[in-house]
Amino acid sequence: MIGSRLVALGLINSRKNWFMKGFAVLVIENLVKVYPGGVTALQGIGLEIERGMFGLLGPNGAGKSTLMKILAGLLEPTSGKIQLNGEDILSDPQLVWRQLGYLPQDFGFYPHLSGEAMLTYMLKLKGVESPRGLKHLVAELLERVNLSFAASRKVKEYSGGMRQRLGIAQAIAGDPGLIIVDEPTTGLDPEERLRFYHLLSELSQDRIVLLSTHIVEDVSMLCPRFAIIRQGQVVKRTTPSQALGELEGHLFEGVVDRNDMDRIYQSWLVTQVVLFEGKNHARVFSPEGAPPEGFTPVKPTLEDAYFSITRKVGEVHGGVSS
Ligand code: ADP
Repeated sequence: MIGSRLVALGLINSRKNWFMKGFAVLVIENLVKVYPGGVTALQGIGLEIERGMFGLLGPNGAGKSTLMKILAGLLEPTSGKIQLNGEDILSDPQLVWRQLGYLPQDFGFYPHLSGEAMLTYMLKLKGVESPRGLKHLVAELLERVNLSFAASRKVKEYSGGMRQRLGIAQAIAGDPGLIIVDEPTTGLDPEERLRFYHLLSELSQDRIVLLSTHIVEDVSMLCPRFAIIRQGQVVKRTTPSQALGELEGHLFEGVVDRNDMDRIYQSWLVTQVVLFEGKNHARVFSPEGAPPEGFTPVKPTLEDAYFSITRKVGEVHGGVSS
């Protein structure tokens, strides 16, 4: 287990050792952020998040990064409250800084440094100490994220997935009770993405891992619980099984002629349009149970669930992406 390995390394801060207490909870209450200039990015977000992996799913511009930055203490909210294990993190950002691991969307690496040197530098910036010395800690963290083999390689030679894993290495240093990862799988190829999923999943055994993403697959693979955020508001808090269950028996698919697509969009909530063998296969959510003529019931996917919540009748999109 990560916990026992870090205990052995002397990395655990005994006072803030949540996972050994078996307790971790993040409570966000009525969080509002209005940027200077007037954009309201968050319109009263409320969430209670317990130990494990929690997904924050929403389209671009929904307010995910704004929320992540506020949680990480990098941005001040306009109003609202955030408590981590009962402590108000907004009034004491120093407190959260020490207890939090943050992997931002755009991690600024120095390309000419080796992975080992880059990580050492980041740990110094973060103020992480280890009784057995920083060199030992860096080696241990690189092993943790499967990068020992590339420790002396320059960061500019790392693949996207390797960079993300290096970012995670700095985020887990000091054994934080809360790890925040903002859109971490964007740009990773399928194999790297899978490897990264496994790493995150392992980390979430002992702490809260908050994953922000616009990729539905991230949530279906990893998150037992998730919230959908849209236009700065939580529109749904659910589990993948529950979300799928709500669509069961109400999702239909049919082949639609290109010229007829407009009519389908205007009358039905179209979750996805998938091209197969050159033909448009439209999937519609019909809560009343009556499908368009010629459509047949299909098994819903989490994409269908997500789009049934975030899209409306009459909205034309023409594909699976949001
Ligand atoms: P997401 O991460 O879900 O894509 P963001 O939090 O980046 O969403 O953005 C939410 C909204 O806030 C968007 O309308 C975006 O244009 C706006 N926004 C983000 N950052 C700033 C900023 N620094 N100044 C003004 N508006 C911003």
